Amino acid sequence: MALEPPATLSPSKVSTFTDCALAFRFSAIDRLPEPPSVAATRGSLVHRALELLLDAPAEGRDLAAALTYLRQAADEFQTNPDYTGLALDADAETQFLDDADALVRRYFQLEDPRTIQPIGLELKLEVAVGELRLRGIIDRLELDDDRRLVVTDYKTGRAPREQMEQRRLGGVQFYSYLCERLFGRRPARIQLLYLGEPVAIIATPSEQSTRGLERKVGAIWTAIERACDRDDFRPKPSGLCSWCAYKDLCPAFGGAAIAS
Ligand code: SF4
Repeated sequence: MALEPPATLSPSKVSTFTDCALAFRFSAIDRLPEPPSVAATRGSLVHRALELLLDAPAEGRDLAAALTYLRQAADEFQTNPDYTGLALDADAETQFLDDADALVRRYFQLEDPRTIQPIGLELKLEVAVGELRLRGIIDRLELDDDRRLVVTDYKTGRAPREQMEQRRLGGVQFYSYLCERLFGRRPARIQLLYLGEPVAIIATPSEQSTRGLERKVGAIWTAIERACDRDDFRPKPSGLCSWCAYKDLCPAFGGAAIAS
């Protein structure tokens, strides 16, 4: 039976399909909920604290303010299902907040937020490419000193090994492409700020990288449509299976496979 392809494609969907077609099906087509994880929720909390910091007047963006915004974000998260679903006990909650605090402190080793000129925070972008809609949320879009666009993505996990760098940059290339299509200007720089290390991975989008991104997304969309037509989403076991929310359903691990 043919399946309905998803209406939009985002960097996370591209990466999920590339990693494992079956996990993509569970997530993007069957829309099975993923249980919240400590790492993902901690990342969201730190993103929110940095959003509040960068939204404040430049002169006040110091570490004390950032930690105040982190406490504000933690208060906001008290009723967030991604946080309450973790059901942390007192010790685990203290550890959770300490780890978030450490990430915010390390952010300051990567840049001085008082020098940043943001023009968009948690910016939702969407463009149509034929019948396909590409969608993404950019952590931060800013202007550099020459008033050129810069796309920044915060990462709260570990930095990738060198051979994975290009792959990780694919997500920011995607955001760069959305900016170019919407604003008519190619960003001068895209950067991943890994707060855990801390380390910044920076690249310059080019005509070649933009065309490469277009070709890759087009090829992945064709593969998704074909998989939907044939209802053929195969498991691709890898080291990522340890973190897969659908492992119990996966035939590669004795699960009953297809959800719907
Ligand atoms: S457990 Fe591994 S192979 Fe199975 S769906 Fe998840 S990522 Fe794919």
